[in-house]
Amino acid sequence: MATAKSIDLRSDTVTRPTPAMRDAMMNAPLGDDVFGDDPTVNALQERIASMLGKEAALFMPSGTQSNLAALMSHCQRGDEYLVGQGAHTYRYEAGGGAVLGSVQPQPITNQADGSLALADIEVAIKPDDAHFARTRLLCLENTFGGSVLQLAYLRQATELARRHGLATHLDGARLFNAAVALAQQHGGDARAIAREMAQLFDSVSVCFSKGLGAPVGSALVGNRELIARAHRARKMLGGGMRQAGVLAAAALYALDHHVDRLADDHANAQRLAAGLQGLAAVAGAPANTNMVFVDLAPGRGERAGVVGRLRERGLLCTGIYKLRLVTHLDVSSADIDRALDILRDTL
Ligand SMILES: *Cc1c(COP(=O)(O)O)cnc(C)c1O
Repeated sequence: MATAKSIDLRSDTVTRPTPAMRDAMMNAPLGDDVFGDDPTVNALQERIASMLGKEAALFMPSGTQSNLAALMSHCQRGDEYLVGQGAHTYRYEAGGGAVLGSVQPQPITNQADGSLALADIEVAIKPDDAHFARTRLLCLENTFGGSVLQLAYLRQATELARRHGLATHLDGARLFNAAVALAQQHGGDARAIAREMAQLFDSVSVCFSKGLGAPVGSALVGNRELIARAHRARKMLGGGMRQAGVLAAAALYALDHHVDRLADDHANAQRLAAGLQGLAAVAGAPANTNMVFVDLAPGRGERAGVVGRLRERGLLCTGIYKLRLVTHLDVSSADIDRALDILRDTL
């Protein structure tokens, strides 16, 4: 169990709304969003659609439902979508596309940087033949495991998809982390980069409840026709919420105040990765957004045991495949130094 003074690096979803965010929630004008009457939900949908250069947006209870509604809006029963073997939509959403959408996933091995090789995408697209499911959609994810896919790659992959008549969806749960990191790497404005990225895809799902620090919610953006289909899917999936403006207000606050500060989370992740050098192998590329993965050297004992020992000392993290440490709004650079002390003692 998390204690009050534990450093919680399990996920960027663990943040509590700040006092100013709570004020915004308390003061939000509300209505019944199933009737389309909630002014704060409507304002959020207009804001995120215009930020990402799309016609329309839909406020969603979760990123999982947002991705699923997108799948169900792009694909019909018996269609197929191309997706990374390690992608959230495929691996971590309980198979919803197949179970609830009757959409067959065609997983493709992710490259080390999270991309799908263009040649792998191309061979996975099925010919128009009665033997095959109809390949309809390419789904990419950015960031993927904390790694940023570059705009040049996204441009090539979406062009390839379009050339084959496929629709494109981006699981941009951490779209703004990607945009802030790309702005740092190449210069430019993070919001402009986020819009440029969104322009490459027919639909994009963005989480407010991750690094942006809102308690609940995601948005799906796309053209009006697609969002109208997603609206029906959301209702079917039980996602029609009533005075949801109390939550949308938190998301609006996050878009106003918590985008640029993602750079602080990235700096903290780098500080953590640097401190781990020479201690345990830090897997993969150096952290370029807000996640650090730690490969435990052989003989260091079972991962679950390590996670438990770290927890006893006040550091919470997860360890399904590797130790995963995620920075966010509620951890400071001083917390990172304390976390490093605990890691050094324990490993
Ligand atoms: C968290 C996450 C989601 C799903 O969001 P929930 O709100 O937890 O359902 C989807 N995709 C990625 C990449 C995520 O990290």
